[in-house]
Amino acid sequence: MMLILLGPPGAGKGTQARLLSESRGLAQLSTGDMLRAAVAAGTEVGLRARDIMARGELVPDDIVVSIINDRLDAADCASGAILDGFPRTVAQAEALDVMLAKKNLELDHVIEMQVDDAALVERVSGRFTCAGCGEGYHDKFRRPAVDGVCDKCGGTEFKRRADDNAETVASRLEAYHRQTAPLLPYYKSRGVLSRVDGMAPIGTVAAALQKLLEGGANG
Ligand code: AMP
Repeated sequence: MMLILLGPPGAGKGTQARLLSESRGLAQLSTGDMLRAAVAAGTEVGLRARDIMARGELVPDDIVVSIINDRLDAADCASGAILDGFPRTVAQAEALDVMLAKKNLELDHVIEMQVDDAALVERVSGRFTCAGCGEGYHDKFRRPAVDGVCDKCGGTEFKRRADDNAETVASRLEAYHRQTAPLLPYYKSRGVLSRVDGMAPIGTVAAALQKLLEGGANG
């Protein structure tokens, strides 16, 4: 199954992609995670992307398209994947169509996670992840059961993204509306677009996604 989660920063794409990846055994392909890893490792791609990401702008299409193209060749993507944060422009969506056709994969679902812009700054600026296993938390909405200890792996180190601050979130949101929102009509005309209410609690959104993937009513 090939699935795209679409939505602005803070919509919960990463959280839901992670849950779906666990429940469905599908690879989660997050271009944001891959670019952060490249920045941390100081690769050529990382050096090109670092300042652009810090400004909350989109990195050039050729960089992310080539990352996804390579990643889709891996064995764990043979029967599909969950794309989280890609595509983000119409040019990326067109490149994805070509890649999928070459790999004999079909796009089954594009799911828009709808959220109010007003909620996003608070959602994004409070989030952090376990440095060990990547489990996501939030200062207000999802604290670990024991403060400072990851519920999932027991790790005690956490990290926050450099671009999760109010100023950068505003540019990321602007980039979403200007460059990514045009993907909604692009996929709607192809009959693969559905939406879920991303403002609902994590478990409710997860249940809505499962229902959609099982062919239930879409929102
Ligand atoms: P994310 O983790 O998805 O919020 O992405 C973090 C940052 O990485 C974005 O603000 C962009 O600078 C960059 N990025 C991630 N995915 C893409 C993409 N598909 N196209 C362009 N830039 C991207």
